[in-house]
Amino acid sequence: MTEKVRVGVIGTGMIGQDHTRRIQQVLTGAKVVALNDYAPDAAEKVRASLAPEAQVFEGAEDLIASDNVDAVLVCSTGSTHEAFVLGAIAAGKPCFCEKPLATTAVGAKRIVDAEVAHGSRLVQVGFMRRYDPGYIALKEVVDSEIGQPLMVHAAHRNQTVPAQYVTPMAIHDTLIHEIDVFRWLLNDDYVSAQVIFPRATSKKHANLKDPQIVLLETSKGIRIDVEVFVNCQYGYDIQCQVVGEEGLAYLPEPMSITKRKNATLQNTILTDWKDRFIASYDFELQDFIKAASNGTAAGPSSWDGYVAAITSDACVKAQESGAIVPISLPDRPALYN
Ligand code: NAP
Repeated sequence: MTEKVRVGVIGTGMIGQDHTRRIQQVLTGAKVVALNDYAPDAAEKVRASLAPEAQVFEGAEDLIASDNVDAVLVCSTGSTHEAFVLGAIAAGKPCFCEKPLATTAVGAKRIVDAEVAHGSRLVQVGFMRRYDPGYIALKEVVDSEIGQPLMVHAAHRNQTVPAQYVTPMAIHDTLIHEIDVFRWLLNDDYVSAQVIFPRATSKKHANLKDPQIVLLETSKGIRIDVEVFVNCQYGYDIQCQVVGEEGLAYLPEPMSITKRKNATLQNTILTDWKDRFIASYDFELQDFIKAASNGTAAGPSSWDGYVAAITSDACVKAQESGAIVPISLPDRPALYN
């Protein structure tokens, strides 16, 4: 197919605008032809500034059904994702869904079932870290150079979070990216989760326990500890060290000029997550466009979204109980092998 994939974007908030810009100005092979938002004014503004030829739809369902739309981008609020992804599958259209695939594991399972019934992949979930050049380089080393992985030590630190950020969001909104990327990095699935709360920072909000340490165990016995510290003050910092039986491998730091000045050695640390993974957003959507031009989907699948939802639920239970919570997965449908 040489014609551009005609994309409809549902949800024109922060990430919906950014993906629209990406498709219109950075990527090849697609154009945004349709926009929808809960607030039509918001969609209209994005149309005027980024996609003047697009049609603004009042209802997301009408956008999905439109004969002018080949593929759908779901960028609306998380609680709306399941219905829109199911709608896209029913229409037989490739669908890129921002995380989370659904807000419950049961909801994510409904999407897996619908896609399996359809018989071929249509859904890509926005787990963009799998497209990050640093994680890709780390995976190459983990797969071939350090022997069998034994442990992972990781950290996800945000400078600050708003007051409405509460304890479970450390899992659903923040750790969710580690949950997905470590399965991919280690070619393994989780069997248990535990959450430990160290001394709390005085910078935390009333309904947030911060920091947290999440302990995951995989089916091969690999132990993963992830520090989630979302008011760390100093920057946005993603760390990952894989310990293998023959060596260690570290996730590379983002590029930064080292300065020697006034008797100090300095590197800048990023503060905005958008800057940290900017390249991977481009690569994930380009991959989606390529697959969508053939009527299918690539990259992180509905199954990956479902497993992430099951694991998140276990981590939240572990936050609440302090216990080690077992994680068991149903058999993986052949579609996702
Ligand atoms: P946002 O700025 O709040 O944008 C969401 C938009 O969806 C808002 O304009 C909202 O309208 C609209 N919306 C809500 N319900 C809708 C419906 N039923 N139909 C159509 N539009 C609807 O949020 P965001 O930061 O862009 O996040 C959107 C999604 O992307 C979230 O699921 C988030 O977790 C995910 N995300 C992923 C990453 C990543 O790293 N992969 C990064 C950021 C966000 P109103 O404001 O009028 O409600």
